[in-house]
Amino acid sequence: MLRLHIFSNHVRLFLPAIEEEEEFYSIDQIKEFEYVSPEYKEWLADLLEQGTREPPPSGEEDESQIFVKFFKFHKCYDLIPTSAKLVVFDTQLLVKKAFFALVYNGVRAAPLWDSTRQEFVGMLTITDFIKILRMYYKSPTVAMDELEEHKLDTWRHVLKDQRPLIYINPDASLYDAIRTLIHNRIHRLPVIDPETGNVLYILTHKRILRFLFLYINELPKPSYMTKTLRDVRIGSYENIETASEDTSIILALKKFVERRVSALPIVDNEGRLVDIYAKFDVINLAAEKTYNDLDVSLKKANEHRNEWFEGVHKCKLDETLFTIMDKIVKAEVHRLVVVDDEDKVIGIISLSDLFLFLVLRPCGEDGSPDGVASVRAQDIRLQESISQSERTSSAEEVSQTIPEEEEDPTVEKNTQDDKSENHKDDSDTSLPDSPVIESNPLPNENNMFREVTVTGGGE
Ligand code: ADP
Ligand code: ADP
Ligand code: AMP
Repeated sequence: MLRLHIFSNHVRLFLPAIEEEEEFYSIDQIKEFEYVSPEYKEWLADLLEQGTREPPPSGEEDESQIFVKFFKFHKCYDLIPTSAKLVVFDTQLLVKKAFFALVYNGVRAAPLWDSTRQEFVGMLTITDFIKILRMYYKSPTVAMDELEEHKLDTWRHVLKDQRPLIYINPDASLYDAIRTLIHNRIHRLPVIDPETGNVLYILTHKRILRFLFLYINELPKPSYMTKTLRDVRIGSYENIETASEDTSIILALKKFVERRVSALPIVDNEGRLVDIYAKFDVINLAAEKTYNDLDVSLKKANEHRNEWFEGVHKCKLDETLFTIMDKIVKAEVHRLVVVDDEDKVIGIISLSDLFLFLVLRPCGEDGSPDGVASVRAQDIRLQESISQSERTSSAEEVSQTIPEEEEDPTVEKNTQDDKSENHKDDSDTSLPDSPVIESNPLPNENNMFREVTVTGGGE
């Protein structure tokens, strides 16, 4: 069953196939949790055997193809789960409601539907929430009216660099999905059915690695899996962007956007790891409606999770690649922090670094002839190959850290007058108790958005 929730201010939505619910999408075979069949093992053995019949120059290159072949064999369709919940936003939806709706539905991103153009035009992710907060935040006493008033559409026009939707066909291989995620530096890749134009699922690095791990014991293990991180050196080890417990949220947001990192290890005065603040954690500001004060510290920002937080998931250079991947899969996090024996932060190994090493590097798609150990290093290489003048500013952008100081005054910010008196009460934005209006297709005018549940297919 696929549940699609569409949030819109519009009275009518014209999503393709919405009137033909039965044909909306039929997931008739879900493969992820299937027993690994003997045919599959046979196929894989054949495939690998063929590789040895025509041996490439070095043995290592041969085994480096194991995961590549796995990901080229499996289609995106193969890891769409039995029951998926999708949230779609109409671009006419108010920005603020969109982020509340992400929280309310427990999702991290949503495709954006333009009803005028009748197509999906982009994604809304937590990074966008971060960019909006950075653009409109002035101080705790000044309300962000733009956040209250702007529609997603308006905001996309303000932020001129919005790119068109990057998506993938369900029949495309997981190898293509990984390449698309990494080459575009995105973390969410919608799978779109070419026949109906509907979004079926949103792929992430995490989901793909978890899928690999369902089969990991059935696959031959490349020898690099038993090498240590010190030997394979995957990840970022220079200019690690960190924060302290006193760092303000607004400075952390600046680091996320300007240094293009997805999480900040929080360290003490000696550089020892004490906590972590990830982009994902920013959505809590919407959940708790505390985004009006971004001058508060990360220590305070993280207080909400103290009861269940297990501590930072980390690793050391002498751990094997297999142990590290296993840790990441079990911890369900996007990265591990690499620490030394004194628990001092020395690096980051992120899922994108892992896929770069496991999948793109063996195909010569890691951006340089001699290979790079991290997506970040790839960014730096890329920028070095641009023009000299651009290099000075862009390479700096990803290779230096932002010092622990107040927000850079040169950063362009909205300069409107203090509007604290106009600050609106959040209570008018609360979401309804039930997210699903299955029997009533009419929108609820009071709530200014609409949800549609479309049920189709096999279950
Ligand atoms: P996050 O890590 O917060 O989920 P991403 O790193 O994927 O977000 O997003 C970075 C930027 O790229 C955001 O502005 C987001 O809207 C945009 N983006 C993410 N995925 C896609 C996509 N599939 N197509 C187009 N733009 C995307
Ligand atoms: P996403 O699934 O959006 O990529 P992340 O894995 O970055 O999200 O973060 C999800 C949650 O896990 C956040 O609350 C974040 O603080 C936490 N988290 C991320 N990385 C680690 C880590 N290495 N150790 C502990 N917690 C982490
Ligand atoms: P990610 O966005 O997590 O997929 O990571 C993109 C690149 O940034 C990878 O090469 C990571 O190793 C690197 N990276 C992630 N977080 C940090 C950080 N805090 N400091 C330095 N590099 C980082």
